[in-house]
Amino acid sequence: MTKLLIATNNAHKIEEFQEILADLPYTLTSPKQEGLNLDPEETGTTFEANAIIKAEAFAQASGLLTLADDSGLEVDALDGAPGVYSARYGDTAKDDHVGRYQLLLEQLADVPTEQRTARFRCVIALATPNKIVGTVDGAVEGRIATAPKGSGGFGYDPVFFVPELDKIMAELTSAQKHAISHRGRAGKALIPLLSSLGQQD
Ligand code: IMP
Repeated sequence: MTKLLIATNNAHKIEEFQEILADLPYTLTSPKQEGLNLDPEETGTTFEANAIIKAEAFAQASGLLTLADDSGLEVDALDGAPGVYSARYGDTAKDDHVGRYQLLLEQLADVPTEQRTARFRCVIALATPNKIVGTVDGAVEGRIATAPKGSGGFGYDPVFFVPELDKIMAELTSAQKHAISHRGRAGKALIPLLSSLGQQD
């Protein structure tokens, strides 16, 4: 089976993509498994631009069919922040997920429930070593809770309330999260793009 490189150094994302894309006829692999030590600078101002930067860099370095996602949380009361800067919000350490969502809760302390609307967005770019094949995206609408809850997922999941399931994202099982999440939806949209690639070969 053809290898498909999941171009992220985020172990949580690797795990989620392995579950979301489990049924595809590709052998999924990671930068670590390929011995790749690469951390391209995310200089884009959109999810799409950053996904393309990462997919191109990893595809060229590995010589493999590669997917990269760029994702984040847009909070309406903060004019769409943290957005593309979700992983770097508030200058907190790279792995300080709790610090980042605590900062978000502090910034929204005076914002009433109906104005706490937010969404997770994900753009996936698919690349060969020679070209960008295309991009797909997914989103999930919700609200920022007033206190963290649940132990599943990662990042901002403990403070993201999903109205359609009446639960916080971190309370969902991984299958429940993938069925409605930005990454799960973008992953589903990737299937026709991968099929189109097969037809070109
Ligand atoms: P990226 O690696 O530059 O795409 O950073 C994405 C950041 O957005 C992550 O580090 C998280 O802070 C946040 N994020 C993206 N997807 C999720 C998710 O599914 N749950 C919670 N936080 C997420």
